[in-house]
This record gives sequence, structure tokens and C-alpha cells, in this order.
Amino acid sequence: MVNEKVKNGEESLLHIYNRFPVALDHGEGVYLYDTEGKQYLDFAAGIGVTGLGYHNKELNDALKEQIDKLFHISNLYYHENCGIAAKALASASGMDKVFFTNSGAEAIEGALKAARKYAWTKKSGRYELIAMEHSFHGRTAGAVSVTGHPEYREPFEPLLPGVRFAKYNDLDSVKALVNEKTCGIILEPLQGEGGIHPVGQEFMEGIRKICDENDILMICDEVQCGMGRTGTMFAWQGYGIRPDILTMAKAIGNGIPVGAFAMTEKVAESSLKPGDHGTTYGGNPLACMAVSKVLEIFEKEQIVEHVKKVGAYLSSRLDELAEKMDCVTQRRGKGLMQGLAVTKPFAEVCQCALEEGLLVISAEGNVIRLLPPLIIEEKHVDEMIRKLEKALS
Ligand SMILES: *Cc1c(COP(=O)(O)O)cnc(C)c1O
Repeated sequence: MVNEKVKNGEESLLHIYNRFPVALDHGEGVYLYDTEGKQYLDFAAGIGVTGLGYHNKELNDALKEQIDKLFHISNLYYHENCGIAAKALASASGMDKVFFTNSGAEAIEGALKAARKYAWTKKSGRYELIAMEHSFHGRTAGAVSVTGHPEYREPFEPLLPGVRFAKYNDLDSVKALVNEKTCGIILEPLQGEGGIHPVGQEFMEGIRKICDENDILMICDEVQCGMGRTGTMFAWQGYGIRPDILTMAKAIGNGIPVGAFAMTEKVAESSLKPGDHGTTYGGNPLACMAVSKVLEIFEKEQIVEHVKKVGAYLSSRLDELAEKMDCVTQRRGKGLMQGLAVTKPFAEVCQCALEEGLLVISAEGNVIRLLPPLIIEEKHVDEMIRKLEKALS
């Protein structure tokens, strides 16, 4: 699997990831190839990033052309790619104003600052944030502060003051934490790292209502579940309510590092102003070319409609598998964001899957997390099921 020749220099990397024992070399469509030429069916998509798969000619050509023209100018100058990408992303995400970042965590940082600044502008004295247990919002200090895993937070404490954790999908536990100091409530409409848990309709509506009644901002983190993955362009759009702030990243650039936080007009009017926030690289002409091309391809190829169809097929095949295999206890998820709770240790399943030529990742609670490129077809679902069944046997 890992050819020793390609490990040259590996010892100089900070040892901070438990990497799978495979060195990847190139990709084509929904397949990846290691340095020995072995083929892997990709059900990880770089952790939900490469929605359009690999070697998409239209995207790659646009990026190459942009590299030769201009790829960095800083945000002190305007480039039309930024406006074009912002307009397209605002329209796709149902928000009004967009700020581009370099990552998901940085989008969260911006969202938290926007919520605090909104309260500050209103002189409301509010600064507290309510986040959810088992949530994941990234690894920077602010993002870790609202991440509902004590083991991710404790080594770095004291973190942001005024963060409280409620139980996901338990409205009473949120109500119990709301007070005159609460400025924002942050949640993922489908928890990814936390074990693939979709949010309930009542919970989404209930949070919207609490926020409306108290001038609290509702922040949806769609870094993982956004961009078509659950069968709507953004997951909140399936619930009939609208958040005040939305964070995005992972799939919006198909792998070019780019994220964004976006907000409604109401928040934009009373929050971040020139001097309050910034980034040197964020939303450079290359990143913005990636975002606008990805959105263009989504529309042209009707990716969201495709996810609805193939996601339903994936769900039914996974339900069959869960029925058949004793070691699979539950299937959870929406569209092409699915999890299988299993009783076999993930490391074992993953090793067998690698041998079968299948890439899968895990989520909390011994869950096999399936995040394939959004362009998979039914035949790839069938291939995955064959391989996964062997790996689970
Ligand atoms: C991955 C992820 C993040 C962090 O994104 P990075 O680009 O790794 O900083 C934030 N929120 C959610 C829901 C994520 O899945």
C-alpha cells in the first residue's frame, strides 16, 4: 500500500494525523489511485469536499487559465471573480451578503464575530453563545470553543467565555440556557463528525422562534452538510426557516481552499464594518473562480436533483445492508451524507475496505461515514455495497 519510496520526508511532518496506510497519487471521476496504480472507489470525497469528483475538465481548465492570469491581489483591490462568486453563492445559499474565508474554521470565526458585533451594535449587552453537544465547528480557538467535545476543548482552556452547550434535538435543553445575555445559537443542520445525526423539524423551527422572540441570531454551520449533499442546495432549505448567519466551506471550491460566512441584510446592516475583520488570502481570484465554476457546474448538471435520486437509492441499499448484517445496528443520514452504526471496530472495517479498494471514514460512536462525490451513480452505490459487505463480513 504505502510504497516506502514515497515516504521520503514524511518524518518531518508534525505527527498529528493518524493517516490511513495508503499514498494517493491521482484521481478520475469517483475513483482515486495510489502510487502503485491500485484503484479505490471514493466514499470519503476528501471529507465531503470533492463533490464534483476528480479531474473535472471544465473546472480544471478554468483554474489553470486563472492561474496564468492572476491569483492573488489581496482584498485591498477588487477583482470581478469575487463579485461573481459572491452573487452566485448568495443566491444558492439564500443569504444576502457573503464574506470569503480560507477554511471552515475561519468561516466559524467570522460568524461568531458577526454575532457578537451585532449584539454590540444594538448595545444589548448580549455576548453568550449556545452550541450543541457532539457538534464540530473546526480547530481554531473560537471554533473549538463552540465544539461540543470536551476532549477537543479542555487542553486549550480557558477558551471563549460565555459558551453553553445544549442537547441536540432537545428544545427544552436550549430553552433552559437562553437568557438576556444570549447573542447567538449555533448548530449543524446535520451533525457530521458527531455521528451523522439529522436535525428534527421541530427543533429547527423551535430555535428559529426562540431567536425571533429574543433578537438572538441563528447560525447554521453547513460546512459539511451544505452544497447539495443532503438533497437540497443547503440543508436548512429543507426546513422552511431561514438562519441569520450561514457558514460554508468544504465542497464550495471542490478542494481549492475556500470557505465563506454569509448573512441576511438585517445582520449585515448592524454587524461587521470596515476594520472589524479581514483576511489576506480569503476569496482570492483563484478561490472565487473555483466557487463560481463549481456553482455553474452544479446548475448545468442539476447536481442537487441528482443527489436526491441517487441519495434515495443509497439509503435503500444501506437499509438492506443493515437488515442483512448483524454488525450494522443503524443507518442514519440524508441524501449523500450517510452513517452506519456498526459493532465491529472501525479500524478493522476500514483496513478491509482499503484492501477491497474502497475509501470510507468514521464518525463519532463507531459510525462508518459515507460522503461520496455527489456525481456517483447507482452502479457506484452497488459497487460500494459489494465491497463494504465483504469488509464487514
Ligand atoms: C470540517 C468542518 C469544519 C471545519 O472546517 P475546516 O475547513 O477544516 O476548518 C467546521 N464545521 C463543520 C460542520 C465541519 O464539518
